[in-house]
Amino acid sequence: MSIEKVKERAEMDAKRNGYYLNPDPEFLNSLLEGLKQNEERYNYPSCPCRLASGKIELDRDIICPCDYRDPDVMEFGACYCALYVDEKVNSGTVKLDPVPERRPLEKQAKAFSAKSDQEQKIKPEIAEETKLKIDTKLDLWYCKQCGYVAFREEAPLICPICKAKKEMFAKIKTQINYSI
Ligand code: SF4
Repeated sequence: MSIEKVKERAEMDAKRNGYYLNPDPEFLNSLLEGLKQNEERYNYPSCPCRLASGKIELDRDIICPCDYRDPDVMEFGACYCALYVDEKVNSGTVKLDPVPERRPLEKQAKAFSAKSDQEQKIKPEIAEETKLKIDTKLDLWYCKQCGYVAFREEAPLICPICKAKKEMFAKIKTQINYSI
């Protein structure tokens, strides 16, 4: 799906619900690009600010627009990623502060564990039969601006807490790393 289509879909959804897309064009583009990449990777547009497991039954709550968007926009004026904002944030009347994570820790942990499991499970099967080489790793990324940390293959495009760009993330250490 093209980035224009991703934007069109988000715009329609914002309009239907009385929201706006983030007024900063560069920031908005980073989020749309993240959605596009996730849709290509998983076949569904999982949240660009969160770790998806790749299993739809575990990621359903973070398919954009996620289950947490409406309460977050109502309480904080924006969703967790700040893709969707309310009228006050859109017009600049209210300054947008970091939106705390509303997704339960249990769900985050399940997604992380499922991702690790998938990687572990394919190891013996594929290694025996095809000798396929796979090098999979999750790293611990650290936002130099606000201290937010996340386990991911790559640094987040946007920090969900302070909205710093990907370049502001530093890799701390490798968590999972193997070849088969
Ligand atoms: S936090 Fe925003 S961008 Fe992320 S899934 Fe929810 S609605 Fe979409």
